[in-house]
Amino acid sequence: MSSAFRSIPSVDAVLGELGGNGSWPRALAVEAVRTAIAQAREAVREGGPSPDLATITAEAEAILAGLARPSLRRVVNASGVILQTNLGRAPLSERAMAAMAEAASDYTNLEFDLDEGSRGSRHEHVRDLLRRTTGAEDGLAVNNNAAALLMALQVFAQGLEVIVSRGEAVEIGGRFRIPDVLRQSGARLVEVGTTNRTYVDDYAEAITDETAAILRVHRSNFQVTGFTARPELGELARLAHEHGALLLDDLGSGCLVETAEYGVGHEPTVRESLAGGADLALFSGDKLLGGPQCGLIVGRGDLVATLRRHPLARALRVDKLTIAALNATLMAYVAGTEREEIPVWRMLALEREQLEPRARAWAEAAGAGGRVVESRTMIGGGAAPGAGRTSWCAALRPERGAEWLARALREAEPPIVARVEGGEALLDPRTVSEGDDGHVAATIGGLMGPGSSADSQP
Ligand SMILES: *Cc1c(COP(=O)(O)O)cnc(C)c1O
Repeated sequence: MSSAFRSIPSVDAVLGELGGNGSWPRALAVEAVRTAIAQAREAVREGGPSPDLATITAEAEAILAGLARPSLRRVVNASGVILQTNLGRAPLSERAMAAMAEAASDYTNLEFDLDEGSRGSRHEHVRDLLRRTTGAEDGLAVNNNAAALLMALQVFAQGLEVIVSRGEAVEIGGRFRIPDVLRQSGARLVEVGTTNRTYVDDYAEAITDETAAILRVHRSNFQVTGFTARPELGELARLAHEHGALLLDDLGSGCLVETAEYGVGHEPTVRESLAGGADLALFSGDKLLGGPQCGLIVGRGDLVATLRRHPLARALRVDKLTIAALNATLMAYVAGTEREEIPVWRMLALEREQLEPRARAWAEAAGAGGRVVESRTMIGGGAAPGAGRTSWCAALRPERGAEWLARALREAEPPIVARVEGGEALLDPRTVSEGDDGHVAATIGGLMGPGSSADSQP
C-alpha cells in the first residue's frame, strides 16, 4: 500500500513532462498537477494501482485544457423545444449577429446625436421600430421582461393596489413568481376569482380608489382546461379606465405575427393587446420575437415617457449590443422577411417532409437501435403550453440505456442535447441547423453504430 503511494510521481516530475503546456502561468500548471496527483492518491487509497507518470501528466493536461474551455459554449439543440430558457432561448438571425459585431467592434452613436453633435438618448434607437412593429405610440427596451414588469409596477403602482386573477398569479419559471414581483415593486396584490374561473365582476368588486392597475398575465407555461372563464381584454380595459386605473398586459412571448400561419395555435399578438385596450404591453425580446434578451414595454406615449425618465430606466437599461441585435431583428418584421431570416420562424416553418430524411440519417447512424418516429416540436418558453408542430425524430435505444446516450451526447464537442422519452433518446432535426447534421450523425455513429463500444456490448 505505502509503496503504491511512494511510486506516485512528484509535482516536479509531472511539471517536467508537461513541457508543451509551458505556455500556462507556472502557478496554474502547479495547481493542475497538484490536483492530478491528489486524484492519483485518492485512486490508490481506494485500492487501485498507482497511476504512472504518463497517466498523471495526461490528467493534468486535461485539467488545463478544461480551464481554457469557455464556460458558456455553443450547444446543438436536438431537444425539440424551440425556446428553451436553459439553452438560451432564441438563436439570433444573421442580420442581428452582424449588427452586434459591428456595434461591438468600434464606437457607436449610442447616446450621441449626430445631427446636433450633442448628447443623445440610447432609448431613441428602438422607438421607431417598436412603433412600426406593434402599432404602439411609444416603446422602451429594458433588461428583460421581468425587469419590464417590475418597473411598470413600481413606477405606476408603488403603494397602491394591483388586481390579478388567481388563475394568473403564477410562477413563470426559475422561481419567477408574479406575486413576488408585485411585492418587490411595492404594489399591493389584490387577488380575485378562482384558479379556473375569474369574471369581470370579480375585478369590478375589487376596484377601489387605491387601485392603480389591473394586471393580465399570459398563461405561458400551463393550461387551465375544462370549466374555465376569463374576461376579454377589452372588458378589463373598459373597467380599468372607468376607474382611472391602468390595464397592464404581460404577454410573455410577445408575438408580432400570426402563429396560425405556421400551423400552430393562435398566440396573442402585441398589436391585439394594444388594440384591445391595454395601456402597456410587456414582453420578452428572446422568446417568439427571436431577438436578444431584453424586455419590451410598448403602449401609451405618456406612460412610456414617464418610464423612460425614471431612475429605474437607467438601472435596467440595455447595452449597445442588445440595441443593435434588437433593431436588426425588428427590421426583419418591418421588411416582412422574418420567416426567412429569424431562426425561430424558420424552424417553425419547416415542413415534416424536410425533416424526415435528416431524422432517418441519424437513426441509420445508430444501426439496429435506431428508428424514425413522429413527434412534436414544442415552441416552449412563453408561448402557449402545448403549442407546437409535428416533426420526425430519430428515436434511439442503445444497449446501455437512453440516459447513458443522452449523457454521452452532451459530452460531444459541441455538446448535443437530446430528450429522453419512454426509454428512448429522441433527437428532433427541426431545432438543429443543417450544418450540424454531420456532427450529430458522426457522434451517434461513434456511440451506437457498427464497431462502437456500445454496439459490442453483449
Ligand atoms: C417569460 C415570461 C416572463 C419573464 O420574461 P423574462 O424575459 O425571462 O424576464 C414574464 N411573464 C411571462 C408571462 C412570461 O412568459
